[in-house]
Amino acid sequence: MSCYFNIDKKIEEIAQKAEEKASEAFARIDHTGRCNGEKVLKAFIDNRVGDMHLKGTTGYGYGDAGRDKLDAVYAQILGAEDALVRHTFVNGTHAISTALFGILRPGDLMLSLTGKPYDTLNDVIFGEKGGSLTEFGIKYDQIDLLPDGRVNFGAIHERARSCKAAYIQRSRGYSLRPSITVSEISEMIEAVKRVNPDAVVIVDNCYGELVERVEPCDVGADLIAGSLIKNLGGGIAPTGGYIAGRKDLVELCSYRLTTVGTGKEVGCTLDMNRDMFLGLFMAPETVKNAVKTATFASAFFDLLGFETYPYCNEYRTDIITAIKLGSRKALIAFCEGIQSGSPVDSFVNPEPWDMPGYDSQVIMAAGAFTMGASIELSADAPLREPFAVWMQGGLTYDSGRMGLLLAAQRLADKEIITL
Ligand SMILES: *Cc1c(COP(=O)(O)O)cnc(C)c1O
Repeated sequence: MSCYFNIDKKIEEIAQKAEEKASEAFARIDHTGRCNGEKVLKAFIDNRVGDMHLKGTTGYGYGDAGRDKLDAVYAQILGAEDALVRHTFVNGTHAISTALFGILRPGDLMLSLTGKPYDTLNDVIFGEKGGSLTEFGIKYDQIDLLPDGRVNFGAIHERARSCKAAYIQRSRGYSLRPSITVSEISEMIEAVKRVNPDAVVIVDNCYGELVERVEPCDVGADLIAGSLIKNLGGGIAPTGGYIAGRKDLVELCSYRLTTVGTGKEVGCTLDMNRDMFLGLFMAPETVKNAVKTATFASAFFDLLGFETYPYCNEYRTDIITAIKLGSRKALIAFCEGIQSGSPVDSFVNPEPWDMPGYDSQVIMAAGAFTMGASIELSADAPLREPFAVWMQGGLTYDSGRMGLLLAAQRLADKEIITL
């Protein structure tokens, strides 16, 4: 029983049952966390990270040793030849967009193997305001996921022959489809390369980093990209993104980020290096806590009578849990509960609003040290069928768990669940 929060005894009991139910998954998550913690430590040591690399630079940033070192450490951890890790990537979408524009040329075909990419890439690919891939004469096609959410391997053999880039989204995004494991990504890469050895396989790796013991580049992905206010920033990096993969391709992406010719050789790091290194070092622990929180959420809300995705003991490749709450009222109550358990802005009441780019109102709960950081406990829900909420993060397991208990308590207070 909590000494500090007023949680109904029955909710506490259900939470305890949920933890028992998740114990097998927790053991697996601990093991993965330990392996990844060692992997990250080894990369710091192998690359001889020193105190000098934590210091800031200004101006052009020629010869910024910390920046180059961070790229090398990232590359080793991600199983890549090279990496481009910069605080000047404003978000994950920016890193993915830079990778696409870095590789694709007029007349090329981008083929998504996992259906429609994440919402924020709509404008990057099709946008009519000017500057989209489409405007530059890059063609786009997609292979939809099968009705059960699985990958359509048959279609890859038929349709990947002529693409320049084959695109994979690892995490589920705002859908209830399963996320795609690194082992499945490996099979997809094999399927693409069998019919088109020159295709560049690009993976949107957002929310996936360090959840498994291997990463997409370990199994042959040519390029991956993601955000540092998700997994690899470890809850410490205040902004940024990364691209990693084949050296020649990372070079092309760096030309797109800065200028052709200067590429990775420029860009000062200001005082960001220390936070980026520290965040990366913390990332295996932070991701472990987030995956445990998500796993607990699956078990707990399942016991409370809701459908959860994935179910608690299912093998995970990202930090997301989706919970089908079934009504507008329940979504709002859930998000209010999560918000009330946040370390920052606990006193704020989240409300549904019309967010640009979405076709329905959205409600979000986020009380984070870094604005919008979804490695911290957070929940978002579009207010439409099937009235599901997507939750993720939790810098520490105990705080994440309490956030979820408060969400359940709010559902009980509003008589949405009976105990
Ligand atoms: C978060 C995310 C992105 C990028 O979103 P940003 O908000 O721009 O960082 C892209 N794809 C997926 C699957 C994501 O979860």
